[in-house]
Amino acid sequence: MAREKKKRCVECGHKAKSLFIQYSPGNFRLMKCENCEEVADEYVECELMIIFIDLILHKTKAYRHLLYNVVNQGTSNLQHLLWKLVLAYLLLDTYRSLLLRRRTDDESNLSMSFVLASSEVLVNVLSSNFAFVLSFALAAKMMLVMSRGKEILLGILISSYVKIFLFAMPVWEFSVSVIFIVDMLVLTSNAVALKVMTESTTSRCLAVCFVAHTVRFLADQISGSMSLKHFGSVM
Ligand SMILES: [Zn+2]
Repeated sequence: MAREKKKRCVECGHKAKSLFIQYSPGNFRLMKCENCEEVADEYVECELMIIFIDLILHKTKAYRHLLYNVVNQGTSNLQHLLWKLVLAYLLLDTYRSLLLRRRTDDESNLSMSFVLASSEVLVNVLSSNFAFVLSFALAAKMMLVMSRGKEILLGILISSYVKIFLFAMPVWEFSVSVIFIVDMLVLTSNAVALKVMTESTTSRCLAVCFVAHTVRFLADQISGSMSLKHFGSVM
């Protein structure tokens, strides 16, 4: 059976034996960190909405809480969790691609059969994410000291939660630039998660994420324009 990993102090990232002592249901005391002597994880007694807001504000301690103290990376379910997250990530990305297509199709009045359009979106999403993972791994290998590839992948997937904001787009008639603003937020959120997981400097983590997201954007553009040309010649 997999060993349960130690929790972390959200203030300094030091390993903590426990985050709280429970005396009876609803009656517990938060523990202090041995290293910085602050409360190890104040989020234990916070409402979900407060944690969510702090995540949106890119607070390092909120990311430490989520990545170390909520998601238990030592469990045997890590593989299952990874697959679920990869699937959710790809679905959200497909949705993003569809939104982007709908906006640009409105402008160019391009009509295309459903099968052709779906296969194009699928090729787009898979090729751009393949380019993303490859360039991320390369950039991280060059710029960061890291060994726990699977855990970092988990951190990147979780910190891409910002993509859920795309669901608000059809409700309010946003312009296409909002999709790119969400992309930028995903980039910075990935960088904070990477910083928390590798304890590297902010600038290095931002650089790695910038390289990977740029390659992904280019791959998306190239595969998008190639399939448009291809399907354009078929029609
Ligand atoms: Zn501490």
